[in-house]
Amino acid sequence: MYSDQDVRECNICQSEYVHNGDYDISVCINCRDRLLNRPISRKVTIFIITIVCLSFLMMYRLPEALKAGTEFERGINHSNVAMHKKCT
Ligand SMILES: [Zn+2]
Repeated sequence: MYSDQDVRECNICQSEYVHNGDYDISVCINCRDRLLNRPISRKVTIFIITIVCLSFLMMYRLPEALKAGTEFERGINHSNVAMHKKCT
């Protein structure tokens, strides 16, 4: 059953059945599975949800912002042309 394991101790539970893989930390299979299935903390979840909501809000408002920017640049160009015609 534990043919691919050596006799090192697990760093978490001190079990002697440590998975023999290319890992930096000696951990048994049970502790490794428990660490892999560890739930995401509440702070990280709230941060991710906030970033996703802000991204959707920015994508929703992007067409309005682009249109406002192009209209602003068009207005500046018109005023520059009017100033140029006024001076000549
Ligand atoms: Zn362990």
